[in-house]
Amino acid sequence: MRKNIVAGNWKMNNDLSQTETLLTALKNKTITSDAEVMVAPTFTNLWSAFNTLKDNAIEVVAQNMHFAENGAYTGEISASMLKSVGINTVILGHSERRAYFNETDELLAKKVDAALANDMRVIFCFGEELADRKSENHEAVVGSQITNALFHLEASAFKNIVLAYEPVWAIGTGETASPEQAQDMHAFIRKTLADKYGADVADSVSILYGGSVKPGNAQEIFSKPDVDGGLIGGAALNADDFFAIVNAF
Ligand code: PEP
Repeated sequence: MRKNIVAGNWKMNNDLSQTETLLTALKNKTITSDAEVMVAPTFTNLWSAFNTLKDNAIEVVAQNMHFAENGAYTGEISASMLKSVGINTVILGHSERRAYFNETDELLAKKVDAALANDMRVIFCFGEELADRKSENHEAVVGSQITNALFHLEASAFKNIVLAYEPVWAIGTGETASPEQAQDMHAFIRKTLADKYGADVADSVSILYGGSVKPGNAQEIFSKPDVDGGLIGGAALNADDFFAIVNAF
């Protein structure tokens, strides 16, 4: 059966000493739920975070990577570089990458391929903007984001894919999709997967919700049958809040 997952995306927050302080606080917490737990510090702190959490159940993951193996891509980081510092999972397609760094579905398809070719797991993010929801285009937008970036893959690739539905209007805004809105979209995503790859694949893929998840709303969102956890931004920067979410199942 698919896993419950809670992943903290720290974005461009926390220098080395702040990272170590937060990791130490997280290390002192106990996971009482069945959730797999991940944190995504910045690139510069991945190696130290990996070492700090080496004997801990929390996995350190990356926020992004480039599709090429190496070469003239100033400022970029490849999958094999991430692997060389112990990182086996990468977040791809976050809405901030799409909005501020012009990441398209086509580019993301190449990044997904590179990650999978390096035996990495991918947390693939997507979600509609407010205008799409208001015009009732949200399913069409999400359907095309998934199709364009992932549907060239073989069914077997999905054992290394986690999906993260993150409505852009709910990220960092304090505005959360209602548990029903999240469930409806997750059910649509699972059906989209089932139509292409069959029910076994669709049922095996974890679909996370992201967008202003907090200790106060996590339990209700996670109680929905097609919501398999969360991708957490702001609340992941506080150990107590993050663990309240981790243990909300
Ligand atoms: C995110 O950045 O993926 C996110 C969900 O942020 P927040 O929880 O702050 O809305």
